[in-house]
Parts: sequence; structure tokens; C-alpha cells
Amino acid sequence: MKNKPIDLGNRIYLIDGFDLGLPSRTGTYVINDKALTLVETGPSMSVPYILNGLKELNLNPRDVQYIIVTHIHLDHAGGAGLLLKDCPNAKVVVHPKGARHLADPSRLILGAKAVYGEDFERLFEPIVPIPEEKLMIKEDGETLKLSDSCELTFHHTPGHADHHFSIYDPISNGMFTGDTIGVRYDQIKEFEFYLPSTSPNQFRPVEMINSLNKIIKELEVDYIYFGHFNMSTNPTEVYKQISYWLPKFVEIGENVFRKGQDHEVLSNEIMAIVQETLQKKNVPEGHHVYELIKLDLQVCSMGIIDYFTKKEKTT
Ligand SMILES: [Zn+2]
Repeated sequence: MKNKPIDLGNRIYLIDGFDLGLPSRTGTYVINDKALTLVETGPSMSVPYILNGLKELNLNPRDVQYIIVTHIHLDHAGGAGLLLKDCPNAKVVVHPKGARHLADPSRLILGAKAVYGEDFERLFEPIVPIPEEKLMIKEDGETLKLSDSCELTFHHTPGHADHHFSIYDPISNGMFTGDTIGVRYDQIKEFEFYLPSTSPNQFRPVEMINSLNKIIKELEVDYIYFGHFNMSTNPTEVYKQISYWLPKFVEIGENVFRKGQDHEVLSNEIMAIVQETLQKKNVPEGHHVYELIKLDLQVCSMGIIDYFTKKEKTT
């Protein structure tokens, strides 16, 4: 198993979970503090990678005190129930709107099947329910003490999903942002590249921009730890790119929706301009990042169409 954890400094490590069978896609962060803490689990298929990564770091899964999930989408929290079997002393820390779906994942499974169709089983099974006494809920602004020198703060950050929070770490002055302020494409090494993540079915663009402003402009973090994938040391660039792409996604989405076209059309239209942008920056046509972006844009497009469908119903 080739997944040596990446040392990100500030006692934080990143374990690649090989989500979708791909490297540098989805990761689990290890905060090696007095109370050993993991952020994100990825889907159940990532659990062996997490255990192997902990072993590489000479850490015992039985010492894990907290497993924090930024939100309950299966590529972030789907493996939490399974991982608990190896981390019997851990509590799963979750947004108040997510907790009951971890205890009873039936609606979560239904939602993911709607998005992933026949790939669902291969990508996400098994989804193990989490006993309620193992869950710990964090309201907006609440904290979690990991040691005398570290208290994490939870900030509710809707936009990608209503059950999403971001976690502030004072030691690094960094934020674990899940999917709230986008995806970082680690496959491109020559420059930084970020796109918003607008998955169904709680995508809300105004809230997403508000969360982006809160994390980068208000809280002035130095590091951003993405759910997908790895760390950014350049929040200003993240802000620039996400605040460029998000309105574009929405604008193209609105046009496609008004014409009565579907998410496939939308996905192709966004892909065309992303491709144009990347090719101008010399990312060649056959580069493997395009496959991944294409996959993401299909899900993003479903979320945008869903947003306009709901908006039309309520106005
Ligand atoms: Zn998500």
C-alpha cells in the first residue's frame, strides 16, 4: 500500500484515501495533538489507507479521540462508521444538521444513489450507522480542546451543504474547509488551480460566497486544508479563483436552465471554458486532471440545476 502520509507541518499530516481509486483525490488529516484527531474519513474504501497511514506515523488507532467530519457527504464521512471499529475510543464530531443522518444513513444513501447511480455500491459500500452515543455535535462558534495549547473552533459554513462546518486550528492559523470553498487540483503541479464544488442538493451560491469571505477575509487564515486535496498556503489565490469561477458557474447554469436544458449540457459548457483556461496555461489535452474535473463538473452541474429548479418553485 503506497500511501506514506504527507507532513504538512504544525503537527498535521495528510493521508491519501484513494477515493474513486485515484491518488490525490480525497484525504484524511491527522492532527497529532495530545488528543489525537482525524479530520474527514473519506468513503469506507479509504479506511484501510487511513489505518495504514496511522501505522506509518507510529500512531495507534485506539488512541484516536476525535474523528471530525466537515459534512456528511459520503466522500467525507461515509467511512466514519467503519473506521470506528478500529478506533473504539473515538467520538465522531459533526454539524447538528448532519448527526441524525450518521446515526441512520438511509436518506444519505438514497441521496448518493441519485447522484452516483449504479456506481454507488462500488464507491461507497458499506455504510455503517454510528451509535448516537458516539456522536458529538458542534454548534457554530463552539470549541474542542485537544491540549492546553490547542482549542479548535467550529464555524458553520453553508453554501456547499447546510450540514457543513469548517474547523479552525489556532496552532497553524489554518482552516479545514471540506468542500465549502472549493476543490484543489493537486494533479496540476505548475500552478494552483481551484474550482467551486456545487454538488446537490443544498448548493446555495450566496451562502458559499459568504463562507468564502468569512474564512479568508474575516478570519485571515494562513493555511487552507481542503477535503479534495491537500493544503494551500495561498488563501488569497484561493479567494481570487473561487470568486471568479463561482459566478461563472451560476451564470452559465442559469442560461442552460432557462433554455430547459439539462446538467449534461451544463457540464459540457463549463468544461469547455475550464479546458480553454487550462490549455492557455499549458496543461496539455491528455493531462489526467481533465478526467477528474469532468467527473466533478457532472456532479456540480446537477447541483446548479437543482438550485435553479428549487428557486423557480419558490418564486
Ligand atoms: Zn460534499
